[in-house]
Amino acid sequence: SSATDTIRATLFPGDGIGPEIAESVKQVFRTAEVPIEWEEHYVGDQVDPRTQSFLTWESLESVRKNQVGLKGPMATPIGKGHRSLNLTLRKELNLYANVRPCYSLPGYKTRYDDVNLITIRENTEGEYSGLEHQVVRGVVESLKIITRQASLRVAEYAFHYAKTHGRERVSAIHKANIMQKTDGLFLKCCREVAEKYPEITYEEVVIDNCCMMLVKNPALFDVLVMPNLYGDIISDLCAGLIGGLGLTPSCNIGEGGIALAEAVHGSAPDIAGKNMANPTALLLSSVSMLRHLNLHDKADRIQEAILSTIAEGKYRTADLGGTSTTTDFTKAICDHL
Ligand code: NAD
Repeated sequence: SSATDTIRATLFPGDGIGPEIAESVKQVFRTAEVPIEWEEHYVGDQVDPRTQSFLTWESLESVRKNQVGLKGPMATPIGKGHRSLNLTLRKELNLYANVRPCYSLPGYKTRYDDVNLITIRENTEGEYSGLEHQVVRGVVESLKIITRQASLRVAEYAFHYAKTHGRERVSAIHKANIMQKTDGLFLKCCREVAEKYPEITYEEVVIDNCCMMLVKNPALFDVLVMPNLYGDIISDLCAGLIGGLGLTPSCNIGEGGIALAEAVHGSAPDIAGKNMANPTALLLSSVSMLRHLNLHDKADRIQEAILSTIAEGKYRTADLGGTSTTTDFTKAICDHL
């Protein structure tokens, strides 16, 4: 394809601060001349019977067709008779892996300066299979489902990611000493995939030890892959290592190569509409999306502009201790481009 070809991508601005930070992404992409044409979809205010949620069938079709998208935060509507928005997306698009890059932002001081790791979380089964019941009064049971198919799929994604992103090591995080069958199968699948990638070092780390190592010296890790619940917890722990919600991006990978990038934070109703939100997490998510599309030049340029704006410290939003508005901060990034 020629350099002028544009790629269509779905954009869900989302709720609360979503539209403000989505505007920031659009502006930065225009300035960096990213060859992307956005197809915007908003969450509806009525349940679409075809999806049983406030997300319309058309918006899901848009992601399926474009294979790539960016999602702002979505507020969970209260009431009965519909599915949660994030659950609808995960199930309908079969988003099986959640990928979170975590690296220290130069100039924004946290306890560590040298975090540079990726967590990859299995997103469809494990402890989150939703199979809970009462056996007899006072005794309940929750089923943790681990399948060979889903474990191989996420392991394959982790090794492929490591290889294509110049990473050297994949650590499988587990508790197979206790969860012998479930985590045992997960590890077995990781080992099988590891054999196909002799250039990537493979190791297995028990989850409790992993937590201790992460808080003592996060530089010990490169790419981490793990079942659902461990991934939920460890990925937030890692987000905390680099400065928290306003900064951390993520990307969801679905069946057939779908990539739906999203910030980790929610719709921040307390600051919505006040031009105060930090767009960094969504911007860095959009950088993940560009990398998924192999638009590495654009991704590097945008990432560089964000990082140098934060490092300079002249324009920072309130969550990072500054006084800049979302629009001023965004303009500073555009000036860096
Ligand atoms: P939240 O992440 O929206 O807010 C927590 C705190 O962090 C607030 O004080 C907020 O102002 C601040 N914050 C978050 N993002 C920020 C940003 N970019 N810049 C500056 N400050 C920021 O969490 P919450 O209040 O628990 O949830 C609000 C709504 O968002 C709920 O409806 C929840 O269901 C939804 N939610 C959605 C997602 C998602 O779509 N993936 C994730 C989490 C929460």
